[in-house]
Amino acid sequence: MGLGDDIERILWTEQEIADKISELGSQITRDLRHGGVAPPPPIAVVVGVATGAFMFVADLVKKIDLSIAVDFIRVESYGSGTVSSGRPTIPFDLKLDVGGKHVLLVEDIIDSGRSMACLIDYMKSRGASSVSVCTLLDKPARRKVDFEVVGEGKFYSGFECPDEFVVGYGLDFDEAYRNLPYIGVLRPELYQ
Ligand code: 5GP
Ligand code: MG
Ligand code: MG
Repeated sequence: MGLGDDIERILWTEQEIADKISELGSQITRDLRHGGVAPPPPIAVVVGVATGAFMFVADLVKKIDLSIAVDFIRVESYGSGTVSSGRPTIPFDLKLDVGGKHVLLVEDIIDSGRSMACLIDYMKSRGASSVSVCTLLDKPARRKVDFEVVGEGKFYSGFECPDEFVVGYGLDFDEAYRNLPYIGVLRPELYQ
């Protein structure tokens, strides 16, 4: 008996996630180099979206071979359930000043797009010189709000996610399951 017993189906294993993150890290490193970002000092700031992206950020930054800074922000659009509650808010601020910096927003999953649109606007209002987005999972079928990267920013996406509620590798249901090392679909009887 273990936490994994609550998972109906594994979508991406620990190894598949690790391989994808190596690819993303190499691509981001190449793009930042070509954008003329020269270390040190760090002029790119990786901003993880708490709490869901904490594990992804930790693994991704190890694969970015450049001087970067790391910070976290929070955006809340969900209650404890599985359905969006509408307009997102930012309940805690960045520690770092992103003015004039290249920002890479790192998310666990993009669903309606509302959180990401809100975060990009916020980074613009803070004077970021470019805003890129790196999401581990994308559910394009559920997009309600469009967003655009800023300046020379790029959009990176790990896996396209089917229209199902997934947990693990940072993603929660009611704050549980974040510590699973893989991503899977929760047994529906657990949340219905
Ligand atoms: P959006 O603003 O794009 O609708 O929502 C993004 C946030 O919704 C994600 O950061 C995540 O917290 C939550 N979310 C959306 N889909 C899922 C899912 O399948 N599983 C989990 N655990 N969270 C999700
Ligand atoms: Mg998130
Ligand atoms: Mg959540």
